[in-house]
Amino acid sequence: MSVGAGMLTVAQAQQRILESITPLRTERVALSEALGRVLAETVVSRRTLPPFDNSGMDGYAVRHHDTRGATVESPVVLDVAGESRAGMAPGRRLRSGTAMRIMTGAPVPEGADAVVRYEDTDSGRERVRIQVEVRSGTNIRRAGEDMNPGDAILDAGRRLRPADLAACAALGNAWLEVRRRPRVAVVSTGDELVEPDREPGPGQIVDSNAVAIAAAVREAGGDPVRIGIARDAVADLTRAFTEASRCDLIVSSAGVSMGDHDHVRDVVDAMGRMGFWRVAMRPGKPLAVGVVNNVPFIGLPGNPVSSQVTFELFARPAVLQLQGATELQRRRTAARALEVMEKPEGLETFHRGILHAHRRGDDLPGVSLTGPQGSGIMRSLVLADCLIALPAEGERVEKGAVVEVIPLA
Ligand code: AMP
Ligand code: MG
Repeated sequence: MSVGAGMLTVAQAQQRILESITPLRTERVALSEALGRVLAETVVSRRTLPPFDNSGMDGYAVRHHDTRGATVESPVVLDVAGESRAGMAPGRRLRSGTAMRIMTGAPVPEGADAVVRYEDTDSGRERVRIQVEVRSGTNIRRAGEDMNPGDAILDAGRRLRPADLAACAALGNAWLEVRRRPRVAVVSTGDELVEPDREPGPGQIVDSNAVAIAAAVREAGGDPVRIGIARDAVADLTRAFTEASRCDLIVSSAGVSMGDHDHVRDVVDAMGRMGFWRVAMRPGKPLAVGVVNNVPFIGLPGNPVSSQVTFELFARPAVLQLQGATELQRRRTAARALEVMEKPEGLETFHRGILHAHRRGDDLPGVSLTGPQGSGIMRSLVLADCLIALPAEGERVEKGAVVEVIPLA
């Protein structure tokens, strides 16, 4: 069976959402504030790194010719002429037939073309016995072997990691142009909800979705703005969405089903434009997507697992797109099903899974289910380190089959 009439595939729904979202403006931030931000410029090197030839070892700078034939049994003896330490400007030239003590990171003196490490010498002070023959370039880190002026080091659209920041610091880029952090309004809807710091009364449950969504927004580089709980009434929903529309994106949960008190769609329709989509997936239908006072809106389903999985698939890419990120989807990888997995025919299914180390002789990691997969079973997500993305077609995946997983790192 293919996807039912009027239903969208996950990929189609993702694409439509992303088409409606344009990146925010940029700002300049110091390196200390740049982790996880999305770069909005190309970082081009304006320096040579390393800036000078330097030693990769503690030892002796030599001319490689002078070590010819050296062995432990018959070492070559050289006069030691001075020292090069890290932080010193390059000193005098190395004369042939001599060696200079040199420390890791110290400039290689002119005339030297190799470094013999201490372990291959007797560590002599006045004269040193060299016990190996070295080739030109041994233990020398060449100027420019890492970066050179004009090299493109980081591309716009990259989410900055610690290594990126280190490279920028080494290049002298103390400030970076990044996209503004999106402000994402988080709205919960439902008469049954109470704030997490309250003890639920009869028939009430804690608003856990807002906690998950706000945290996931932060993880995706956004600033969550908690609007709180809106009751299942047009007036209260209108108030909440009005407040929410001061942000760059609105993410709500629940109230978009066919229930008697599901008014989110009507309210959004009145305040902007509403599209109601049936996405052929589990967990997850229904999804409401639209615009509220010109602000993009994504209405996630209410069940805890559904809201978190649909956030991952639809809202997270939107938050990244607002930041101009190039990589909007997590990289998927193949794994071996360690057990039978069942699913509804015609619905792309995102089971919660645990990745396991490769078994002997298998070129793929294993993946198992996290137990019961109901859309209200929070433990299925707590235990998971990946989603298992099973295609719409079919009702059963056999043990040993290859499946696609989305690691949730
Ligand atoms: P609804 O889409 O409004 O029919 O809600 C579907 C299910 O999700 C119901 O069982 C709700 O109680 C539950 N639910 C709705 N909102 C939340 C929330 N913010 N936190 C936890 N569960 C919720
Ligand atoms: Mg509800």
